[in-house]
Amino acid sequence: GPVLAVESSCDETACAILAPEGTILAQRVISQDGHADFGGVVPEIAARAHLSLLPGLVKATLNDANLPPAGLGLVAASTGPGLIGGLIVGSGFAKGLALALNRPFVAVNHVEAHALTARLPGLVEGGAPFPYLLLLVSGGHCQCIAVEGIGRYRKLGGTIDDAAGEAFDKVAKMLGLGWPGGPALEQLAREGSPDAIALPRPLIRRPGCDFSFSGLKTAIAQKLAPYGHTPLPRSFAADLAASFQQAVADVVADRINHALDMMPAARLLVAAGGVAANTVLRARLEETARSRGCRFAAPPLRLCTDNAVMVGWAALETWEEAARRGQTPFTDIAMRPRPRWPLEDMASRFTPAHN
Ligand code: ATP
Ligand code: MG
Ligand code: FE
Repeated sequence: GPVLAVESSCDETACAILAPEGTILAQRVISQDGHADFGGVVPEIAARAHLSLLPGLVKATLNDANLPPAGLGLVAASTGPGLIGGLIVGSGFAKGLALALNRPFVAVNHVEAHALTARLPGLVEGGAPFPYLLLLVSGGHCQCIAVEGIGRYRKLGGTIDDAAGEAFDKVAKMLGLGWPGGPALEQLAREGSPDAIALPRPLIRRPGCDFSFSGLKTAIAQKLAPYGHTPLPRSFAADLAASFQQAVADVVADRINHALDMMPAARLLVAAGGVAANTVLRARLEETARSRGCRFAAPPLRLCTDNAVMVGWAALETWEEAARRGQTPFTDIAMRPRPRWPLEDMASRFTPAHN
């Protein structure tokens, strides 16, 4: 039967129902409000919001799919990495549903779910066969991952300070654009010139594919310092936004080139995470991939940002992989959510069949 999946690792409360072959039967996402006034996600507020939103959301999603709970075959949830309060709420809810329905519970790694989204049937033209390079760029993540198979992931590089989305949000805040500021910054940048203001390109041409954004942030703060509390001229703010975005795109393109060097078998570059919505960055990624003889794919925005479809799909893929290996699926109801859960640990889910 279909899988019902819950996502609650950050500030999106989401539920989705997928048919066994991956068709999306229903999906809902609530992006929590109540964080903007604090300029970032407040873990306690997020956990409480998940708790109050989930029952109605799950009911509504079942309704959308026109499915009675007893029609479900599996129940899945993100169990990490992420904010522990939300993870406990979402996975606890899903486990309760699984127990009540006497169906297996599948624990899903949130980053693995982002990584496998591109494999949803019909999403990427020509499909997304292994191996491929994943660039995950969101508010909380910034990493290059070699996706070599289900449960077979290698982190090639990651950020040594801020995540890309975090950098966008912090710079947007400095420009007075509110939170989360990524989309507003992109909008403002359209009015500016990307070459107007000289900014550093942290780590560019260094070996490997790690990222660093804090130097860029500091450079912007220095450009803003002379203005003190006087309002920024709009054209200056726009030039800063455009120059910042250009610097990020340059850095990411350079890092992706290095990541592709580290993964010569990759013929496909996949971008995921909210920052992958940025059109300037997308264009650069596409160009970089093409120059290396690779295809480029980015899931549509609602599947790039946090959602439950990806959780359901990852559950289905891992379920099948376990079956292919003749192994007991990794469905331990006692499994605890993990705020940190490295992708490198994922292979250990596949435990040998009883023998
Ligand atoms: P997690 O990191 O746990 O996946 P998240 O909520 O931080 O969760 P997403 O929801 O995937 O991540 O993405 C949100 C981030 O994407 C924010 O930092 C936001 O500013 C950024 N973002 C969204 N649209 C754009 C854009 N057009 N340009 C730049 N950044 C953007
Ligand atoms: Mg989010
Ligand atoms: Fe995410």
